[in-house]
Order: sequence, then structure tokens, then C-alpha cells
Amino acid sequence: MPVQREGSKVPRLYRSSCCAIGIRLPLLFHPTLHGRGSAIFCLPLRRFMKPYQTLLFYKYTPIANAEEFAQQHLAFCERLGIVGRIIVSEEGLNGTISGTVVQCKKYMDQVRSNPVFDGIEFKIDEVDTPSFERLYVRVKPEIVHSSLRGIEMIDPNETTGIHLKPHEVLAMLEDEEVVFLDVRSNYESNVGRFKNAIALDIDNFRDFPEKLKEIENLKDKKVVTYCTGGIKCEKASGYLVKNGFKNVYQVEGGVVKYAKETGGKDFEGKLYVFDNRVVVDVNSVNPTIISTCKICGTPSAHMVNCANSVCNEHFVLCESCGWKMEGCCSKACMKEPTKRTYDGTGHYQRETTLA
Ligand SMILES: [Zn+2]
Ligand SMILES: [Zn+2]
Repeated sequence: MPVQREGSKVPRLYRSSCCAIGIRLPLLFHPTLHGRGSAIFCLPLRRFMKPYQTLLFYKYTPIANAEEFAQQHLAFCERLGIVGRIIVSEEGLNGTISGTVVQCKKYMDQVRSNPVFDGIEFKIDEVDTPSFERLYVRVKPEIVHSSLRGIEMIDPNETTGIHLKPHEVLAMLEDEEVVFLDVRSNYESNVGRFKNAIALDIDNFRDFPEKLKEIENLKDKKVVTYCTGGIKCEKASGYLVKNGFKNVYQVEGGVVKYAKETGGKDFEGKLYVFDNRVVVDVNSVNPTIISTCKICGTPSAHMVNCANSVCNEHFVLCESCGWKMEGCCSKACMKEPTKRTYDGTGHYQRETTLA
């Protein structure tokens, strides 16, 4: 099977339309394959159809000198030319990055070559354009801000819920005795969540422990926690175990991995992601829209920040209301001098939606 060649400029080669089934592939891969049997060769290569990739990954693992590691990692990423957001901490590594197929492969090879990150899993999305404008590598106390440090310290390598593979998640979804618990923030679960899931009304993951009182009644039930890529669940499920919940599971690799391997059945709405895409479709089996425009109430999954930079509320605004309201959440915000120009996206160059 042909594989990606090191150093080849993949994006420029996506010119030829190949095969009876019309899949576009680089000429590089199959100069003589048109005709009989070509589809057999082509289908596994569909993942090369888009010029860029976005990688989502994390690993809870002790990093001895996080500052020094971060500096070296930043230099490496800059040399490579990737963009994205990477958090380094003494407890591990967390990132979402974008680059060409070749750049992403080199990034993964480099990380995997370090024994500290043994077993790290990369979730790969094909994208038309990079999902970030810039590169950030930051050192923080935790790879996801959780407040589960100090007395409440959870080390997922010691205490965490049982990891469920995607096909096991599918089986759990069929079981009416099982409760799915969304551990993400309210704006994420508002735009998409598992069917019948319990979503906590939290603005930020660090508020999760405070909500424990509201779910005390689930202590004897089978509880499956889930989040975008699995990283929050490592601690959230561990926190439940530590607090006496008896049957705690977590969706391994989060909704992203589940959707990739199963088609995303029973995930209602869209998946919120922390990059330029904002929301992505993950359910190709029984897709729905569950969120509605804040202004007119029609179904929509178009997430914006209020054009008034002082307000900056993150909410759902349909396309027609977007233009009518000039990207604002209210008439009051429309009158403010701090109002930014609305271009239909509702996203402004500022990190306003960090986890
Ligand atoms: Zn509307
Ligand atoms: Zn506003």
C-alpha cells in the first residue's frame, strides 16, 4: 500500500481526479491505477483527500522539567511550521495542532519517539485549512484547568473510570440503566450531547466538583462520563470514583474517537471544538440539530461571540439574525462603541473560548 512520502508536498499534488468512483488522489500514489481494481486501492487512501490535518491529543505523564520541555517543544514546532495550542505541565501534555499531512506526521513521529509519551493517541481530522492562525505552547499547572489539585488532587494514572472503546460505548447507549454524564461546559453541551445525557450547567470544568451534590443519586448507577477528546474525563471520572461512585466508566478518546469509529450514532447536535471550526458534525448515522438561535428560536448550530467586545457572550445566532443583529446578542450591545465588525462568522481574533 502506498504511504505518505517524507518531504513530499502533498497539497500541490491534489489535482487529479481518479477512478470510476471519482475520489481525488495525488498522482504520486497511483500513476497507473486507473481502470480495473483502482477503487480497491483508493478507498483506504481517502484520508489523504484534504491537504491539512488537525490533531487532538493528550497524555497524563510526569514531565520532569516542564519549562525546559516547553521551550524545546516550541522551537521544534516553529521549525516544523505547525499552528495550534499546546499545554505543557508537570502532569503531562495536551494539544490541538494543525499542519500539512507531512508536518503532522513529523510532529507525531517526534512525540512518539519520546518514551515519556509512550502510548499517546492522536485523533486525526482532515481539514481544508489549518484550524488555528498561530502557535501557542504554554506551561500551566494542569493540562486542563480542573481545580482537582491540592487536597482534591486526582492522578488519572492511579484513579480513573474504566475506559470504554467506541463499540462498548454503542452498547452502553442501548442500555437504559446506564447514565451518560456530560462533563463539558454548558455552551458545549447546549450545541450537542449524547441522547438522554445529563449535562451539568457549568461555565468551566473547574466548577465540576461543586456539582457533585446534584448527581449524588447516581452513586449506585452505571455512569459513563464523556467529553470532547477524553482528557477531562480522566480526572472527572477519577473524582467520581474517589467520591464513592461505584460503577464509573469513561468514553476513551471522547466523542471525537467514538464518532470516528462508529459514525457518531446518538450524539445529538454538533460537537464543540476549541479551534477555528468551533463546531463540527460528528454524527452521520442519525444527525439532528438541538440548539436554537438565541434571537428567533429557529434551529441553528452557528456559535458566535457577541460582536460587542466588552460583552463577548458566546451563544447561538442563526445566519439571518446574525446580519440583522450585526453579530450582537442584544439591541443594547448593538449600540456600544466597542462593537466589532461582523463578517458572518462571529469569531474575532482573540482567545475567548479556551477550555
Ligand atoms: Zn435567528
Ligand atoms: Zn452582547
